Amino acid sequence: MLQPLPDVTTDIPQARRTGSPLNHSAAWRTRITLGFALGLVLATALTIAIALPNLLQRNGAASLAPPGGARPDRDGRLLGHFPYREIAPSELTAVAPGLELQRDAASAVLAMQEAARADGVELVVLSGFRSIELQKQLFFEVKSARNQTAMERARVSAPPGYSEHSTGYAVDLADGSARSTDLSADFDQTAAFAWLQRNAHRFHFTLSFPQGNAQGVNYEPWHWRYEGSAQALRTFEPAQRLSR
Ligand SMILES: [Zn+2]
Repeated sequence: MLQPLPDVTTDIPQARRTGSPLNHSAAWRTRITLGFALGLVLATALTIAIALPNLLQRNGAASLAPPGGARPDRDGRLLGHFPYREIAPSELTAVAPGLELQRDAASAVLAMQEAARADGVELVVLSGFRSIELQKQLFFEVKSARNQTAMERARVSAPPGYSEHSTGYAVDLADGSARSTDLSADFDQTAAFAWLQRNAHRFHFTLSFPQGNAQGVNYEPWHWRYEGSAQALRTFEPAQRLSR
């Protein structure tokens, strides 16, 4: 014969159904556990709130750094130009009013001017050292004024941080008797250019951007760089390697 199942509710002793010291401690334990859980959630939220802006900023800076969203190539170039550091001011010396070059390059360009003058050619220095700050203006402000894309601008001017002029070793030269050819491809028709082609290497100057150069930069017959010291050679080694 089946025994009737005991009533579960009534089977619980009276003491456990109503409030008792034992029940109190269980409730406290639950409250303490919940407190810990809440604290953990708050601490995690706080950590995320502090770390997230930093993370976003870091990613943002990385993607904003190159002009026009362009990324440097595997060899470090940006839109064809190699990266160059700005020379220390103590390394610079004047070659003409308002124009400075690295000391070795300065004496070389002055000696070259003198030799050219002896041959009846007037070499004019148009531009020497340019700070990265000035290059920033030359690149972005002119780009904006001319409505050029970064790619178009980079064919005629280096992005800031990528100009040979920042090294103090690069000069833009002109012919004193043919100033209409200043900074123009026609400069290669002048007596000054013909003289440079015959003599510049004697003074350790080399044409940085000849016609059809491997860097893909526009032909610049007026832009020459000094390679007459170990430091200068080291500076332009990547560009040298590419043009070989
Ligand atoms: Zn130049």
